Amino acid sequence: MLQPATYLNKRHLIDFDVVNQRVLVRVDFNVPLNNSGVADDSRIRAALPTIRMLIENQAAIILCSHLGRPNGKRVSELSLKPIAAHLSKLLNRAVGFVSDCVGPQAERRVQELQPGEILLLENTRFHIGEKENHPDFAKQLASLADLFVNDAFGAAHRAHASTVGVTKFLPSAAGLLMEKELSILGSVFDPKERPLVAILGGAKIADKIGLMKKFLQVADALLLGGGMANTFLVAQGHSLGDSLVDFNSVEVAGRYLDEYGEKLLLPRDAVIADSISAEAQIQTVSVDEVPEGWRILDIGPQTRQAYSKSIEEASLIVWNGPMGVFEIAAFSEGTNAIAREIAQSEARAIIGGGDSAAAIKQLGLQSQIYHLSTGGGATLAYLSGAELPGVAALDDRPSEHD
Ligand code: AMP
Repeated sequence: MLQPATYLNKRHLIDFDVVNQRVLVRVDFNVPLNNSGVADDSRIRAALPTIRMLIENQAAIILCSHLGRPNGKRVSELSLKPIAAHLSKLLNRAVGFVSDCVGPQAERRVQELQPGEILLLENTRFHIGEKENHPDFAKQLASLADLFVNDAFGAAHRAHASTVGVTKFLPSAAGLLMEKELSILGSVFDPKERPLVAILGGAKIADKIGLMKKFLQVADALLLGGGMANTFLVAQGHSLGDSLVDFNSVEVAGRYLDEYGEKLLLPRDAVIADSISAEAQIQTVSVDEVPEGWRILDIGPQTRQAYSKSIEEASLIVWNGPMGVFEIAAFSEGTNAIAREIAQSEARAIIGGGDSAAAIKQLGLQSQIYHLSTGGGATLAYLSGAELPGVAALDDRPSEHD
């Protein structure tokens, strides 16, 4: 198991002399696009420190990333070309783009690349060998460079050719973003910073059960919202009408309630509706008053108040997952209230995962947050204590005795 801080045992970018070297950097440019280009460039900005460091040190920089799920086929909407233009603006310098990540065209462009220049390769997932972690594809990709740097924390939980396969063919190191994410997320387990208040929401309990267990062991309070809280309410004996419930997880929820009941805060009241739509009929009720045909779609005002009190007492806060169906304004107040409360708190706040980060950004509160993680699944996996294949595959730092 990769313990928090094991990242220190991996080679860092600064361990290498990169002058005149061709450096293949796996970045996470899996960003939302719209008609005018990049809709949210947080992940691109997060990769800038590594790219700037390589520019300053006169490396020839070859960037690669996946975007979306093209399933091994060329899908023009999932081209990284608009991202090259966006990156060029952010860096105020030219960023070349090549319409394949391997093959003769990519090889030629890499040969022409001068120290300090940047080339972005096309979406790695246009090749089936990427997700299959096929050694032939990994070898072709690796043949473009002298050194591999993994800065794609958001893809580190995937054992793909561009995150794991290439490390078999090149010396490798963690990039600056990778180091930052691992060190900040790892610090959650430092017992010095307490009380730790963890907040989990969202729909899929099965994805977060491991993380829940970890937080129940190390946190002082775990506040639950969203669809996943329903499963716990059912385990307590409440009837929830048509609410989303994962009946396969009711038993484990019951066990957690028995074992860690005093740490676990559940919704007392809820915003319920007769359908998941902006036109639905809506009421606010206690969780033991949900009628047949209605469903819980947000936490209610009493719950918001109880959760706010807990957040106020925290020194460290970790939040992942919305408190309700926040995409619809009528069911977004719980999520927004939690976001505001976290932003106002004196505590160090770490936000993991796309939806909670989106809520913070929608409210323009990002400057008041200590760390918005660039990872979703990778953040959940790392905080649960799982090994991240993209980190485990990197070269170990030689020990002082070597
Ligand atoms: P996840 O990917 O598991 O973090 O789930 C995020 C999704 O959970 C969001 O799209 C929310 O709309 C949804 N969600 C949150 N609360 C509820 C709820 N009470 N019932 C159904 N879906 C919910």
